[in-house]
Amino acid sequence: MDKLLKGYSKFRKEVFPREKHNFKMLASSQAPHALFITCADSRVDPSMILQAPPGELFICKVVGNLVPAYGSAMGGVASAVEYAVTVLGVSDVIICGHSDCGAMRAFLHPEKLRSLKAVEAWLEHATTAIAVSKDHHSHLEGDAYVEALTKENIVSQLQHLRTHPSVASRMRRGNLAIHGWYYDIGEGTVSSYADDSGSFHLLDEEAVIKAVA
Ligand SMILES: [Zn+2]
Repeated sequence: MDKLLKGYSKFRKEVFPREKHNFKMLASSQAPHALFITCADSRVDPSMILQAPPGELFICKVVGNLVPAYGSAMGGVASAVEYAVTVLGVSDVIICGHSDCGAMRAFLHPEKLRSLKAVEAWLEHATTAIAVSKDHHSHLEGDAYVEALTKENIVSQLQHLRTHPSVASRMRRGNLAIHGWYYDIGEGTVSSYADDSGSFHLLDEEAVIKAVA
């Protein structure tokens, strides 16, 4: 805890005074561009990956970056989706899985989940990804299988996301885009899911820079 409190002290003494103007502007309202749903894993830091200061990303961190299909779990994730899409009016929703995901790795040893009842119940929302992976990636082993499962899970959670009325309605109107990303922690790279090819491709940062220039 000492390390965290030292961090807070540094924030108070150095960061906040420097950014005071921005924090005053943010004190009474927010207008984030995107809803970023990713794993609770401590190594995945959306604000760092996208170099996004406070106010730009509405972040929902949850084990396994799972988005329960609408109606199956009216809890925190469904609330974050509804609020970000309907009230805040974000233009994009990103579901981001990552390498070495403990939640995905757990499926290699489901017997270990039996004593973790809450985790076991939550991971039910990845049932489709597990079934698809068993059918299509059973030739893979270890890390390669976990990566394939993690990517199938991202695709599956995008399908769940589409079942949320707020998302379906805005997508029908054409003013909301949804994205599936895979973040490789050791490489510092993001791959994006392409619907047309059904595969993940490294985000080309040069192309991204040109597109926004
Ligand atoms: Zn994870």
